[in-house]
Amino acid sequence: MKTRFTALKGAPDVLPPETNLWGRIENAACEVFAAYGYDEIKTSIIEPAELFLRSIGASSDIVAKEMYSFTDKGGRSVSLRPEGTASVVRAYVEHNLSLRPAPQKFFYRGPMFRYERPQKGRQRQFYQIGAECFGTAHPGMDAELIVMLMAFLERAGLPALSLELNSIGCRNCRPAFKQRLREFFAPHLDGLCPDCQRRHEQNPLRILDCKVERCIAIRAGAPLISESLCAECREHFGALLGLLDAMKTPYTLNPHMVRGLDYYTRTVFEVTSGQLGAQNAVAAGGRYDLLVSEFGGPETPALGFAAGMERLSRLLSAAESLSMPRPEVFIASLGREAAAAALSTASALRARDKRVEVGWEGSLKSQLRRADKMGARYVVIIGEDELRSGSFKWKNLGTGESGETGAEEIFNLLS
Ligand SMILES: [Zn+2]
Ligand SMILES: [Zn+2]
Repeated sequence: MKTRFTALKGAPDVLPPETNLWGRIENAACEVFAAYGYDEIKTSIIEPAELFLRSIGASSDIVAKEMYSFTDKGGRSVSLRPEGTASVVRAYVEHNLSLRPAPQKFFYRGPMFRYERPQKGRQRQFYQIGAECFGTAHPGMDAELIVMLMAFLERAGLPALSLELNSIGCRNCRPAFKQRLREFFAPHLDGLCPDCQRRHEQNPLRILDCKVERCIAIRAGAPLISESLCAECREHFGALLGLLDAMKTPYTLNPHMVRGLDYYTRTVFEVTSGQLGAQNAVAAGGRYDLLVSEFGGPETPALGFAAGMERLSRLLSAAESLSMPRPEVFIASLGREAAAAALSTASALRARDKRVEVGWEGSLKSQLRRADKMGARYVVIIGEDELRSGSFKWKNLGTGESGETGAEEIFNLLS
């Protein structure tokens, strides 16, 4: 019996022409990132489960509910990566990249995995493009990374996105703030959602960005981290805002933004679009000054971001209608003898980066019909008569103009 397979739920295929759009987004990223000195790093998509437990945090939604983990044949607990930063930090420590001159800057792209209920804007396999920078605590680096992200989004064709910023403090000032939050939420514990009740002890910061209506209502009077920052954190954040002002990069302060991952310190940011509904973040990131040393490396301040390809692609395809690229030339090849001439003519055009299709089989009429469906600009006909005379008939399908030309002159048609 024959079996017709379908893709796993939440792991969709991406088809042309959308893949071409993805390529365009990736090219924009590669060009912009290179100018900022970021080179690509390719890490494994499968890692020890412990890596994410230790970095993202056991109390995070990702680790608590969404990990794609299993035991491999060697009895090791492994996970498909739910995000890119932990692997890049692991690689940075493993290969002693701190010995290279600072700052070390990397970008990555590839699939990530989270086992959650698939919904619009969220899949179990999703694709991210991100950047990480190691080796400086200077707020100039925060500003540079954010400016680079905005430049990439603009080059990809996505202006008019909003940037939200916050500082969530450091190991000196955050514990006291967490305690203030615990005390504030303690009398309201019963009113919070089950997730927030769990977060109250482990990481009360996360209650601040809960999306549940009643949690939003309760937190309205909660203390703000901006009032609890230590002098160093306040100075760092102030300097970053000053640099963004100098760059005329618009931003909004969002005192409730904490990001879902435990490893962030100081700067956190999100880029959102009003056109995406509830899942509106297209990119997000922040500083993680403690993670490298927690992974056994030297104390290394670091920061990064990740952008979601599916959402970027959705925004772009909403702005322009996608269509398949059209061949510039369709070579109708008639009869066995014409095949070699068709192939060599096509190859010569392709060597000049022209998109060419050869219509290997079928009658002239059916080949012309295909050329028309594909939206080809020109049709060139190569049959036995043409081979004998060395002169090929051509037609411009757009203008209806037609003529005959020698094999060499075909190139002139297209210039
Ligand atoms: Zn601080
Ligand atoms: Zn909640």
